[in-house]
Amino acid sequence: MDEKLKELKETMGTLTDLGHASSLLSWDQETYMPPGGVESRGRALATLGKMAQEIGTDEKVGKLLEELGPWAAEQDPDSDDARLIIVSQRAYDKAVKVPPDMVAERAMLTTMANAAWREAREKSDYSIFEPHMEKIIEFNQRYADLFKPYEHAYDVLLDDYEPKMKTEDVKKIFADIRPKQVELIEKIANAKQVDDSVLFKHYPKAEQIAMGEEIAKLIGYDFNRGRQDEVHHPFQTTIGYGDQRITYRVDENFFNTYIFSIMHEGGHAMYEQGVPKSLSRTALYGGTSLAVHESQSRMWENLVGRSLPFWEFYYPKLQARFPEQTKGVSMEDFYKAVNKVEPSYIRVEADEATYNLHIMLRLEIEIGLLEGTIAVKDLPQVWDDKFEEYLGIRPRNNAEGVLQDVHWSFGLFGYFSTYALGNLVSLQLWEKINEDIPGLDDQMRSGEFGKLLGWLNENVHAHGSKFYPQDLVQRITGSKINGDAYIKYLNKKFGDIYGL
Ligand SMILES: [Zn+2]
Repeated sequence: MDEKLKELKETMGTLTDLGHASSLLSWDQETYMPPGGVESRGRALATLGKMAQEIGTDEKVGKLLEELGPWAAEQDPDSDDARLIIVSQRAYDKAVKVPPDMVAERAMLTTMANAAWREAREKSDYSIFEPHMEKIIEFNQRYADLFKPYEHAYDVLLDDYEPKMKTEDVKKIFADIRPKQVELIEKIANAKQVDDSVLFKHYPKAEQIAMGEEIAKLIGYDFNRGRQDEVHHPFQTTIGYGDQRITYRVDENFFNTYIFSIMHEGGHAMYEQGVPKSLSRTALYGGTSLAVHESQSRMWENLVGRSLPFWEFYYPKLQARFPEQTKGVSMEDFYKAVNKVEPSYIRVEADEATYNLHIMLRLEIEIGLLEGTIAVKDLPQVWDDKFEEYLGIRPRNNAEGVLQDVHWSFGLFGYFSTYALGNLVSLQLWEKINEDIPGLDDQMRSGEFGKLLGWLNENVHAHGSKFYPQDLVQRITGSKINGDAYIKYLNKKFGDIYGL
């Protein structure tokens, strides 16, 4: 069996290498590639993708997995090798169901759709994107049908990002938290609003970047294994073991944009930096799901970065760096400013209390589109109506409404709910962390984050993608993904800030 396992691992190593090469090409495309390179870059990425698909779905791999299955069943079920075979079998079974033609079709479709979406958003004209959206929905229906029988077509799409999660589970979780979040937001709307004008002063770019590097290092992001570069839409990417890069956007006239994107992407990167070398070049390398990944980024962004203890520590340094901008603003007022709650149009800029509502709205719309109860041509109207119903405000145009976000143009359906689930998981973990690390607030107050990162390394990162997300959360916290801790946190935090 050792020989066969070795052979399987070699194939996976090749697949991982191809994936990393693609990541580097994509990273370069977003950061430094001259515009003239777009066509040949697209071709190179398509070739690498096709090679990976061919290697990953080769009969040889299927046969190896078949032979290794019974052996794996006799190993310690939590061992790396047993999990490697189970996780790889699942990936293989899924990959072979998708004909190579459809892989190519998706690449072509989304390249065109993304270009159309950019133009549509710029002109705030949905009609430019509509025909592409029709094709994307039709494609996703066809894709889901490859996996019949299913309980719900949406399960198939969700499963690509959140293994084993069911649409019904997500709906139940959202139905539980929605009224509680709405109640809180209504209370806040009736309270005295905080003054956040300090955030809209001029913060020069170079100074912001120096501050970001200082904070990223402070919380434990390792620049020997990473770097930060500027992009339009920030993301984190792993180019290989020891190379986890983050990207950022700077707005010189709005403080939040840069600092929280660095802490957010830094959180994603520290997850990947914490996955042990023994799992690299295998199917167990990297984070286990988007929700768990998002739990890490949101934890550093919000539970650390928007916390009182963090600003108790960092505010004097901020004042030293930006004396004019912060003049006459107390630490408490600055803390309140970065936590201001106000329904807003754009999800990525939403505060913690309203954020999940943006996601719930999308889930409802995506399911409606897939079930055919919402027509693509009606989407702008449906979006605006539902937006008003969920957030109490109505988008003034399609650019800030239905066209605001890039995901759909990339064909990404079933993706959004992981953002909200990540928020919930971050709090489930946070409760457990505070049980395990007494005095965590005091540590943050003195700029000490090593114990927190160490806990995450040991309990979350060390497992890579060995365990499916619900199982991982259950193992660590004793319960599956749910919103109890999140709601408790929101009520306490914003109750204090707004004196509710
Ligand atoms: Zn993220």
